[in-house]
Amino acid sequence: MWQPIVGFHRDEHGDWVADLACGHGQHVRHRPPWFNRPWVETEQGRRDMLGTTLWCKRCEDGEPPPEKTPIATGSSA
Ligand SMILES: [Zn+2]
Repeated sequence: MWQPIVGFHRDEHGDWVADLACGHGQHVRHRPPWFNRPWVETEQGRRDMLGTTLWCKRCEDGEPPPEKTPIATGSSA
């Protein structure tokens, strides 16, 4: 499921994690040559990525967001 980026934070290892609108986080590592995201290293680069979408696998897997989502739709099957 595509989710827009609403913010960024670093995890305990110092890796950047994009905060998605659904409440999930997704690593956006800059580890060339495997992960080439030089933009994540700069504040300007991260700001430019706000509002762009990332594919959220956790949403696809039906994983509930880590934080409060009081609106229960009852469709957990
Ligand atoms: Zn998600």
